[in-house]
Amino acid sequence: MTSVLICGGAGYIGAHMLKMLALQGYDVVVFDNLSTGHRAAVRWGKLVEGDILDPSALERLFATNRFDVVIHFCALSLVGESVRDPYNYYRNNVAGTLNLLEAMRRARVGKLVFSSTASVYGIPRDDGRLDELHPTIPINPYGVSKLMVERVLQDAAHAYGLRSVALRYFNAAGADPEGDIGESHVPETHLIPNVLRAALGVGDGALQVFGDDYDTRDGTCVRDYVHVNDLASAHLHAIHFLEKNPGAHCFNLGSGKGATVLEIIAATREVTGRTIPFTRMPRREGDPAMLVADTRRAEAGLGWQPVFSDIRDIIETAWRWHCSPHY
Ligand code: UDP
Repeated sequence: MTSVLICGGAGYIGAHMLKMLALQGYDVVVFDNLSTGHRAAVRWGKLVEGDILDPSALERLFATNRFDVVIHFCALSLVGESVRDPYNYYRNNVAGTLNLLEAMRRARVGKLVFSSTASVYGIPRDDGRLDELHPTIPINPYGVSKLMVERVLQDAAHAYGLRSVALRYFNAAGADPEGDIGESHVPETHLIPNVLRAALGVGDGALQVFGDDYDTRDGTCVRDYVHVNDLASAHLHAIHFLEKNPGAHCFNLGSGKGATVLEIIAATREVTGRTIPFTRMPRREGDPAMLVADTRRAEAGLGWQPVFSDIRDIIETAWRWHCSPHY
């Protein structure tokens, strides 16, 4: 049986990964410091509490378990926070990952699937879809921290033969269609959960729309929202890909479709039947006008395709999660 370590498996995307792997018969261990993740989300595997910043905890983890592959989700991932506190981002995302890579090397675990981000691209050079050959000039420490790790992975492939796939996520959205797990951040900064909270009338005030003067079809930012289970299934494809392919690789993961902030609000109104009050605010620092994925490389290389193609279906799964009692 293939044995998988999920670092960050108590978090939003990691928990969906955990459920999918476990249901497919993989043997899964989660390593998580529970700083942003939820103990209650780890329902399909063993949880080992620990921090990638603690080399001795990693040492113990690899000494007491045998892993064929590691999936690494642990990261700080808020753009604004990374601008305000870059040291924290470089420590967690870069130094922490180095600890993990060194522990893997000592334990002779030679395959890694790494969570990267569309933030590695920075400002798109035109308003088309971004492919993996687009220049990588991140405009915030979060994006830089992920790009630094991608660079380390290339060097590790050359020096140590580490096989890796870096998956550059666009905007993860939605929840487990069965309602077991979903997105729950404190504080919540992401658009779709905030729109749903506004629909439910919870939270500290009206939804804020950051910037309506962008050069887009309605003035608000365009993003590519991809269902969290589609992201998880891409990791499964990446595990199979690593069986056959040495080297360090990167793939975009998105739906290939863009939606503006106002379109998300309108679609949520449709799905929920609720009114969604919002106020228009100035732009948020570090937000590019448009980020939409060209996913052809992932489709051809990984044999992956997203199943959820309509943003309303994605919002529907998140709505069900938000309406039911959850962690
Ligand atoms: N956004 C917004 N109001 C919110 C949260 C987000 O207008 O309460 C906007 C944000 O400025 C961006 C888009 O929605 O244009 C997606 O933001 P999110 O934080 O969900 O993801 P990001 O693209 O930053 O990873």
